[in-house]
This record gives sequence, C-alpha cells and structure tokens, in this order.
Amino acid sequence: MSGFDYDLFVIGAGSGGVRAGRIAARYGAKVAVAEEYRVGGTCVIRGCVPKKLFVYASKFAEEFEDAVGFGWTTDKVTFDWATLVENKDKEIDRLNKAYLRNLEGAGAELLLERAVVEDANTVRLTSGRKITARYILVATGATPFLPRHLPGHELAITSNEAFDLKRLPARIVIVGGGYIAVEFAGIFSGLGVETILVYRGEQILRGFDDDIRNHLAAEMSKKGIEIRTQSDVSLIERSGDGVRVTLNNGAVYGAGQIMFATGRIPNVLGLGLDHVGVEMTPHMAIKVDAYSQTAVPSIYAVGDVTNRVNLTPVAIREGHAFADTVFGGKDVKVDHSLIPTAVFSQPEVGTIGLTETQARQGFAKVDIYKSSFRPMKHTLSGRDERTLMKLVVDGESDRVLGCHICGPDAGEMAQLLGIAVRLGAKKSDFDATMAVHPTASEELVTMREKWTG
Ligand code: NDP
Repeated sequence: MSGFDYDLFVIGAGSGGVRAGRIAARYGAKVAVAEEYRVGGTCVIRGCVPKKLFVYASKFAEEFEDAVGFGWTTDKVTFDWATLVENKDKEIDRLNKAYLRNLEGAGAELLLERAVVEDANTVRLTSGRKITARYILVATGATPFLPRHLPGHELAITSNEAFDLKRLPARIVIVGGGYIAVEFAGIFSGLGVETILVYRGEQILRGFDDDIRNHLAAEMSKKGIEIRTQSDVSLIERSGDGVRVTLNNGAVYGAGQIMFATGRIPNVLGLGLDHVGVEMTPHMAIKVDAYSQTAVPSIYAVGDVTNRVNLTPVAIREGHAFADTVFGGKDVKVDHSLIPTAVFSQPEVGTIGLTETQARQGFAKVDIYKSSFRPMKHTLSGRDERTLMKLVVDGESDRVLGCHICGPDAGEMAQLLGIAVRLGAKKSDFDATMAVHPTASEELVTMREKWTG
C-alpha cells in the first residue's frame, strides 16, 4: 500500500460491492465497505429475494384449487398477509447477517454510513471522517423511478413499499409493463387482490419475444388481471383510505393502492462524482469501460449504477471481474452477451438469446420452432393454462440463436438452455438429445416441424 488508508473503498454493500470487496480482500487488499441502508442491497433486502418469496406465497391459491382434481379437499384455507411479511423479514434478517459475516470473514471493514467522493482517492463519510484509498468502487445500485410531473404521484408506492404494506388492498393499480410490474401483478392477483395493470405501450414486456409477450398477457388475463395497454395515468387523487386513478383515456379506477414499476434510475445523486471528473451516460448512469473503470482511473463502478444489464448476477460478475483484474493480476472482462433471464410472472418467463425479431434483423434465414401445450398437471386440475416454447434457429448454420419459454419452471429451464446456447448448440444437437419423460422441457428436444405461421 502506498500511503493510502485502504487499497479499496467500496461505496454500497449490495451484490456487486460485496462480491468485489470480498474477492479483493481475499487477494490481500485492505478493504472498507460503506453502506448507508442495510447490507445486502436491493436484491436481498427489497428485490429478488423477498419478491420470489412473495411469488411462492401467491401461487398457493391456485395450488389449493388445482389440488381438488387430485382428490384433495381444501375448504378452509385462509391467508394472513402479516404472517407472510413477518416471515419474509426474518429471512431477510438472516441473509443480512450472512452478508455481514461474509464480509467481515473476508477481512473487509464495514462502515454503516453514507460515503461521498471528495477526490480521485478520497471519500468523506457522513460523520465528517475522510478516508483515502488507492481505488474507489462505486456500487450504489439504482432506485425506483416515479414520474414526478404526474399530479398525485406522491400517493403512489413503488416495489420498495410493496414489500411492507400494513395490509393488502382489495384492489391495486400497477403502472408499467416491465419485470417488476408483471411480477407484482401476479403476486397481488394470486393473493386475492383485484389487479389492474396499466401499460403505455402496445404489449407488456417490451424487448422480449413477441409470442412470449402475447402468450403471457393472455395467461395473465385468464387469471383475472386486467391489462390496459396503450394507457397512461394522468391523475391520482386521494379517495377515502385509497386512491382514485384517472387514465389518459378517461377511465377511472378506485383502488386501495397504486404502485409504479416504471423503471429504476442509477443512484448517483450527491455522490460527488461530477466534481471529480467521472463521466455519465445520457441516462445519468456512470460511464465505464469493459473493465468497469470510469474516466477517473482510480474510480470504478459496477452493477445497476452503470446501467449496463441491470441484473444481480451481472453485478456480481462485474464486481468479481473488477477484483480479479485490479487485485488479482488477471485480465477479466465481463461478457454481457447471451445472458439467460427469468421473469417471475405467473406463468413464468425464461429466455436466452435472440428474439425472433432480433434474429430476422441479423440473419438471412431464420427458422422458428414452436410448441404450445397444456401442462400435464392440468389434465387433472382442469386449469385452462398453456405453456409456450419457442426456438429461434439460424436457418443457414442450424445454430440455436434463442430459446423462449412461458410456463411453469421457465426460469429453471433458461439457466440450462443458457449453457447449450453459449456452447453454440445446433438444432440438430437439441434433436439428438434424448428426452426426459414425462417433463415439459422434453418439448425442447422434440420439436421437429418448422413453424410456417
Ligand atoms: P423495466 O425497465 O423492466 O420496465 C419499466 C416499465 O415502465 C416499462 O414497461 C416502461 O415502458 C414503463 N415506463 C417507464 N417510464 C414510464 C413512464 N414515465 N410512464 C409510464 N410507464 C413508464 O423496469 P422495472 O422497474 O420493471 O425493473 C427494473 C429493472 O430491474 C429491470 O430492468 C430488470 O433489469 C431488473 N429486474 C429484474 C428482475 C428479474 O430478473 N426477474 C425482476 C425485477 C427487476 P416502455 O416499455 O414503454 O419503456
């Protein structure tokens, strides 16, 4: 160390920051991590983890209904929101402590206060203490975006508050058509809340394969979720205990809550980055190169604050690659292509690679394989739900360019399909793979007929 208090100072103890701090410490670096809220970041505290727990909770309603076809009697089932919130909090506390233990176990020092950047090698804590470091890593994540020009926006909640509502509303309006909006629509609807999804575009999940978007929207509607596309909220007013929501087409909804899931913005405000020469993208994210290095050589940034691919595993990979490169003497760049992803909607979406539209833009000949079927479970449950699977194939090389699934366990399948697609698997490799029977995923290796539309 050359006269600095620390080798590395990490701002933000979320997925990316914690991974970077731990790995750097393991390489022998003297590391400090500052966190102003709770260790674990959005994913653990108010994102992926509690969301998935709530998805599990919300699915039981259908499971109880489905069980009847298998001979069960499920007359007197009841649900208690307070119990779910309390148990979720216990699990988050446990994870929070595990993160703390991991950081401290690796030898990193944790400072539970806000830190801002003073200069290329100095941070200042809220307490006034100044600390110097050879490298500073900004891993402050992102925060929900609310359209503040909208009259009454202050009456709306975001996913942050949705996890800790005092009570479930009878009806909720959810604004947005991305990951969070469709996931929470499924959660609230499953828990018995009348749910209206208001989306400004033509179809939910922009950027996903069109067939999957249409399929999911149809399945969500079957479950009773009202999806209002090409609609925007123009006014929110207080009404009794709840709100009165007016849409731009004049429709009016009374609801217990209105939740905005309209994207997230990088947490850069007041961090002092502009004063020291860190450059920003037009969307006010920190601009970094392939090594996550900013325009100031001693300052790096990883995760959602850089707005590259805003997913937890990506932030973790970026944090790890940073530590490997800067402290481990390796040359590691993160490959941001071919990232498998899941949307925990109901039914779930799992996807890897190019959509049909993207493939048609880049390839001369594209072959499509599609299968839509009723999951075996529903032959006895009687539920009217279908799964959709789709393969996008380069008609010239036979390489599988994309796999898209909407149905139970789609996320689990996307993880494994991700390996095959990364390895450059051809459709003939899928065909040569023996089916696992009876499963839903066997459809992926038994689709023989090209889709002709
Ligand atoms: P997304 O970017 O996925 O979606 C934002 C949605 O809000 C879009 O439908 C967008 O419409 C709409 N929108 C944006 N601005 C406005 C506005 N002013 N008025 C009305 N609608 C608006 O963001 P989310 O908030 O859903 O999620 C944030 C990020 O978190 C995601 O990008 C994802 O990376 C991550 N995430 C991942 C999950 C997972 O992996 N399962 C789960 C949850 C979050 P339009 O399409 O027209 O732009």
